[in-house]
Amino acid sequence: MKDIILKHALKNALDFNGKINPKAVLGMTLKENEDLKKEVPKVLKEIEKVIKEVEKLSMEEVKKKLQELAPELLKADKKENIEGPLKPLPNAKKGQFVVRIAPSPSGALHIGHAYGASLNYEYAKMYHGKLILRIEDTNPENIYPQAYELIERDAQWLADNNITKVVIQSERLGIYYDYAEKLVSMGKAYVCECDIDQWRTMKGEGKACPCRELEVKEQQIRYAKMFNEYAEGEAVLKLKTDIKDKNPAMRDFSLMRINEHVHPKTGKEQRVWPLMVFSVAIDDHEFGITHVLNGKDHADNAKKEQIIIKYLGGEVPEYKHWGRINFEGFVLSSSKTKLAIEQGEYTGWDDIKLPFLPALKRRGYQAGAFRKYATEIGLSLNDKTVSKEEFWKNINSFNRDIIEPNANRYFFIEDPVKIKIVGAPKKEVELDLHPDYPKKGKRKLVAEGEINITENDFTRLEKGKLHRLMDYCNFEITDNKYKFVSESYEDYKKAKNKGIIIHWLPQENNVIVEVVLENGETSLGIGEKGMLNLKENELVQLERNFYARVDKIEKNKIVFWYLHK
Ligand SMILES: [Zn+2]
Repeated sequence: MKDIILKHALKNALDFNGKINPKAVLGMTLKENEDLKKEVPKVLKEIEKVIKEVEKLSMEEVKKKLQELAPELLKADKKENIEGPLKPLPNAKKGQFVVRIAPSPSGALHIGHAYGASLNYEYAKMYHGKLILRIEDTNPENIYPQAYELIERDAQWLADNNITKVVIQSERLGIYYDYAEKLVSMGKAYVCECDIDQWRTMKGEGKACPCRELEVKEQQIRYAKMFNEYAEGEAVLKLKTDIKDKNPAMRDFSLMRINEHVHPKTGKEQRVWPLMVFSVAIDDHEFGITHVLNGKDHADNAKKEQIIIKYLGGEVPEYKHWGRINFEGFVLSSSKTKLAIEQGEYTGWDDIKLPFLPALKRRGYQAGAFRKYATEIGLSLNDKTVSKEEFWKNINSFNRDIIEPNANRYFFIEDPVKIKIVGAPKKEVELDLHPDYPKKGKRKLVAEGEINITENDFTRLEKGKLHRLMDYCNFEITDNKYKFVSESYEDYKKAKNKGIIIHWLPQENNVIVEVVLENGETSLGIGEKGMLNLKENELVQLERNFYARVDKIEKNKIVFWYLHK
């Protein structure tokens, strides 16, 4: 009997970091040997004794002993081990893990949101849990109606469509009202009519205002009056906390207020609005959020939310905050960006110059790149500053890893210049769609002496050197003429007077190409005819230039968006 108890006690100690639950050990012991059910008191006594022994051991010793006694339990433990790119979270269990991302609908999501949303999603994945999107729109003064759709679309994109539930808080006002009423009836909340400045003075001194002591019945009448009698600012619903709390912010904080501002979703119907801490607490409670992962600017609110949840008898989630990430040189303000869009400075939230997700998606950035970025940074309380240069370097490298195998190659000749290679043979040149994946097939260009090269290469062609047109031929400049030398690449490689290898296009049979660049300007040129077989949204590498996304295909013209080098 002792051995059975010992191995389950060791296993329990290992699973719960040294804290052994006697009931769990009893359960496992009885499950293994049903005969012991007849002598539970005796078994419990033995369990107590064993636990005292095991608790003296270090975790290393526990592991060693379990390895000797019941290695199969250790193996099972390994199988259960959580695997993922992130540090494990406290009290997180596989399959019983619910997190949420909770943006306000003030604009589209940007690179900062991408970090937070990705981190939540990666944790949900790691724990086989759920990810909820909650749009926090209980401040009627700060709503941008288009944001609902933009946020949902981009959040789903970041999470590979794994958001299981979308919650819009303004659709849940009735629920908040019910909870508020409950707190009033419980004597835990009161409606304060005091002048705000007087109230602040009283609170500062740790004194309760006269409203706090009124009977529940009176509070209920006052609460009802919030919906139709009081004017904005005349009454606030407050939670009774410790009026002498060391932190004045925790003393009797507000739950609900009157705001006459017309909310674009609910119209004039609603005038009583929950403060963020209240709606957040209720929703976390109602949706069984197990872990709240967000920025440390939410830490004070989290304390308030916990008080509310406890009053309602709910289970408080585990809170983990990350430090402030200062994306240096980026304008991430929704209000400023919204204004700039309205003033025509940007074409929309997907303007190529913006660090918002609609723009980055349109350039061809992949959700996986943002998720990789988030897991690389991880969840840490340390503040950090990320320069523009550093951000792009990282995100571009993660993105390149994802897209490279699928990005077929094409020639794009910016600002084409025609040159004639005297003596060059007519040749059908076959080029790989992707040099690393020959199975993807070939593209064909017909060369016949006269070809197009970029203006930039044209100015770089030095006299007296052997230059090469990719996969076509070698040439040199003599007597101000471009003269064919040979076809073989070996010749070029061995040449002492090696010039440059450049890409080119036939004289005719090309398509017009426009590339929208990072700075919003457009680069013009020509491309291979075969580009017309591309599909919108496809990613390519314009050889010797950069990666780009097909934005639009017209009759004989194709528009790309610059992605990165
Ligand atoms: Zn008062």
